[in-house]
Amino acid sequence: MAEIRTRFAPSPTGHLHIGGARTALFNYLYARRKGGRFLLRIEDTDRRRSEQRYVDAILESMEWLCLYYDEGPFFQSRRGDYYREIVEKLFAAGHCYYCFCSPEELDAKREAAQKQGRKALYDRSCRASARKPQAGESPVVRFRSPVEGLTAVDDLVRGRVVFDNKELDDLILLRSDGTPTFHLVVVADDLDMGITHILRGEDHLSNTPKQIQIYRALDAVPPRYGHMPLIVGADRARLSKRHGATSVQAYREQGFLPEAVLNYLARLGWSHGDQEIFSREQLCELFDISEVGKAAAAFDMEKFAWVNFQHLKQSDPKDLARQVTPFLEQRGCSVCDQQYLSAVVALLRERAHTLVELAEAAEFFVVEELEYDAKAVAKFLEEESLEKIRELAAALEGLDRWSHDDIEAAFHRILDKHGLKLGKLAQPVRVALSGGTVSPGIFEVCEVLGRARTISRLRQCCEQLESGTLKLRS
Ligand code: GLU
Repeated sequence: MAEIRTRFAPSPTGHLHIGGARTALFNYLYARRKGGRFLLRIEDTDRRRSEQRYVDAILESMEWLCLYYDEGPFFQSRRGDYYREIVEKLFAAGHCYYCFCSPEELDAKREAAQKQGRKALYDRSCRASARKPQAGESPVVRFRSPVEGLTAVDDLVRGRVVFDNKELDDLILLRSDGTPTFHLVVVADDLDMGITHILRGEDHLSNTPKQIQIYRALDAVPPRYGHMPLIVGADRARLSKRHGATSVQAYREQGFLPEAVLNYLARLGWSHGDQEIFSREQLCELFDISEVGKAAAAFDMEKFAWVNFQHLKQSDPKDLARQVTPFLEQRGCSVCDQQYLSAVVALLRERAHTLVELAEAAEFFVVEELEYDAKAVAKFLEEESLEKIRELAAALEGLDRWSHDDIEAAFHRILDKHGLKLGKLAQPVRVALSGGTVSPGIFEVCEVLGRARTISRLRQCCEQLESGTLKLRS
C-alpha cells in the first residue's frame, strides 16, 4: 500500500487554538498509527493577516505538545512560482479563463443575486471568451468549474456527502495582482506533497467539492477527506474567546500538562469505549478515524481539569519537578535542587489540578524565608505551643534515622508526655513549618523537608515569634 501522508496546514493569523491543535493531533495520530508521515505547512499567502510572531507561536505550541512533524515546515509564501506553473497547466488544459469584471460590477451582480434570493455565484459572463489581457489590464483567473453533475465526497467521518455541481462557483485562482488564492494553493501543495489523507474541521466541508474538481482538472486523484465535528462551548455555540481561553498557549500558562492537553483534545470528537485517560503512546496505538463521531464536541473545562489532574497524579516526579520549576520561579522562588523538588511534588501531585496549583502548594517547601499567615499564627502559636515545638525540635534532632515512622514516634513521645491529642501539636507544627494551616500529613511534610530544614524552621519560628520579627502576611 502507498505511504500514508497527512499534514497540518495552519494559517498564521493567530495563536494555535484548541480546534487547530486537535486538527494537528488527529493528522499526527493518523500518520503514526498507519506508519505514515506527518507534514507541517504554514499557509501564509494572506500577507496582510499572516504574522511571523504567530508562525513562531504555532511552532512553539506544537513543540510543547510534542507534535513532531516528519517534513516541513513548508511556507506557501515561498512557493509562488510553483502555483503559477499549476495555473499554466490548467490554462493549457482549458480549465481556467481570465475574468475582466471589475470589483464594482461583481458587487452589483452579487447584490442582484441576493435580492432575487439566488446564491451569489459569479454569473460566468467572461467564461465563454478566450480573451487574453492587454497591456495595462489585470484580470483575475477563474476556474472553469463543471456546471452539471454531482461531486461526491466519501468522507472518513461523515460518510458519503454529495454536492450538486450547480452550486459550485467559478473560483478565483489568481487575484488581479497575480497572487494565488486559498483553494489553488491548498490543492497544489497537497498534490505536490503527496498528501493522501486530510483531516480537518467541518467548516471546510463545503470547500471539498471545489477542491476535488481542481484535482480532476489536473488529472490527479484527490486525497481522502475526513471532516471533524465542530468544538462548541457549554451553550452549544462554536467555541470562541467568549467561552474562555482558546489558545494552547493559554492552557500552558494555566499549568496544564502537554499530555493532558493531547488527551483531552483527542476526546473532543474521538472515543474509545469508556476510556478517558490515554498516554501519548496509547493514542498513537489506538486512534481510529472510524471512532470519530459526527456530533459537535462540547468543550468542558471541568472535565479538562480532571484529565489534567489524572495526568499530574501519574507523572514521574522528576518530570513534574522540571515542569513546575518555571511556575515556582514566577512566584519568586529559585529552585536549584531538583532532587528535593522531586520529593516535594511526589508528595503533592495528588493534591493539585494544575501546575499553578502544584507550585502554590510546593512554595513553602522551597522558599528561603517563610511568610506566616497572621490568623494561623494567632490561632495556633500561643506560648504553650512554642514550648512543645521546642521539645519536638530536640526530639527530632536526636533521632537516629530520619524516617516517617521515627518522626511519628518522636511526635508521640511529646504528646504522651503532655497527655495531648495529635492535633494539638500537629497544627502548631504545621504553621511553623509551612506558614499556614493547609499541607499534606505532618510526618510526610517533615520527612520531605528533611531534618535540617525542619528543625531550623521550628526553632526559627519560635525565636522570631518571641522577638517580634516573624514575617506575617494577612
Ligand atoms: N489553512 C487552513 C486553515 O487554517 C486549512 C486548510 C486545510 O486544512 O485544507 O483553516
